[in-house]
Amino acid sequence: MVNGVFIILDGLGDQVNKQLNNKTPLEAAKKENIDKLIKYSEAGVLDTVGPGLVPGSDTGHLSLFGYEVEKYYRGRGIFEALGSDIELKEGDIAFRLDFSTVDNGVIIDRRIGRNDFGLEELLKDFESIKEKIEKEYGINIIIKHGVEHRGVLVIRGLESEKVTDNDLHEENVKVPKILYKEDKAKETAEVLNKLIQDFNSFANNNNINKMRKEKNIPVINYLLIRSASKYKELDKEDKFYNRYGVKSIFLANPPMYLGVAKYVGMDTYKPLGTNGTSNENLFSFSEAAVSLKEKYDIVFIHIKGTDSLSHDKKPLEKKKFIERIDRELIPKLVDNFDLILITGDHSTSSILGRHISDPVPVILNYENNRYGFVKNFSERKCVKGTLGRLKGTDIIKIYLDKLGKYIMYGS
Ligand SMILES: [Zn+2]
Repeated sequence: MVNGVFIILDGLGDQVNKQLNNKTPLEAAKKENIDKLIKYSEAGVLDTVGPGLVPGSDTGHLSLFGYEVEKYYRGRGIFEALGSDIELKEGDIAFRLDFSTVDNGVIIDRRIGRNDFGLEELLKDFESIKEKIEKEYGINIIIKHGVEHRGVLVIRGLESEKVTDNDLHEENVKVPKILYKEDKAKETAEVLNKLIQDFNSFANNNNINKMRKEKNIPVINYLLIRSASKYKELDKEDKFYNRYGVKSIFLANPPMYLGVAKYVGMDTYKPLGTNGTSNENLFSFSEAAVSLKEKYDIVFIHIKGTDSLSHDKKPLEKKKFIERIDRELIPKLVDNFDLILITGDHSTSSILGRHISDPVPVILNYENNRYGFVKNFSERKCVKGTLGRLKGTDIIKIYLDKLGKYIMYGS
């Protein structure tokens, strides 16, 4: 049996940077292990969602799994919820939730200083007020705190998810009310505005926030809500296993990524000691992957740090993080897997601090492959490789073929 590992380095591709002698962070990084591998690998670049389209992490992953986003993408909220271990029911409306600090209607801190001191207790105290809203509208409201300021909101029993966000991704601006985009969503907007208002009045007078003030950390008094999406389970025949006939597991840390994998029916696992930051425990990923290889045909690995450093506009640190991936993640995988793929879900510019449409490099290594002449793993070198330039949804077919699960047309 062939063992496959499929490595996704988030936001891997980038732009050339003067600080790096007009190289991209990937080009500038010293990566002996990957470069050793690429000499005997097929290489290419991927437009994960399509040429000229800027992928989100959610749509980038769906595409890599072979699911056309036009058909399968229903918004990010449900992935956040699934990845946070909330059991969604058909018709649930899920939102990404950020606990934040508002003063006089103006957003002061979108992330409560990334400090969640007292938040769980605050939510417990809020239960009775939440229940009142549930009774009034005949609905269920689930609020779940994740890490730091992040959380998920799920509402069961409302009709439409077509409402605006109240997170403008900016601070020192007035927070807008949630508006409905279609008549059917009128009640959804009403419930959300009430929930936000009631939380604000409740939290302003809560003891936890008095303690936070004394500790000089921003108070938790506002709910920023975005990425509304309505849950509909994927049809059985569309689930990853039924569609491709392979058993797969997805290793990642942040909930959203685990949620995308769960949505398509993969098993998921958060390796011990990982944190989803640029300070990641990479050894933990390779150890987990190796320990799972007998049970699964494909072990997917998602590493977040490359993307976060790009959003923070830190090209030099991104370069260093890639070097650490080369030293700490790759060697053990090379020793243990027969089929190795390395790519990204999209490019993220560490100059602009956002996702860009430029394709991401990909390498594919397996026995007796038709390797080309690419000797370095980089955006500009890989484009000359034997895989050429592919659409994101194509790569899984090529991968499955090498795994022995090929689709044959004709006889
Ligand atoms: Zn991403």
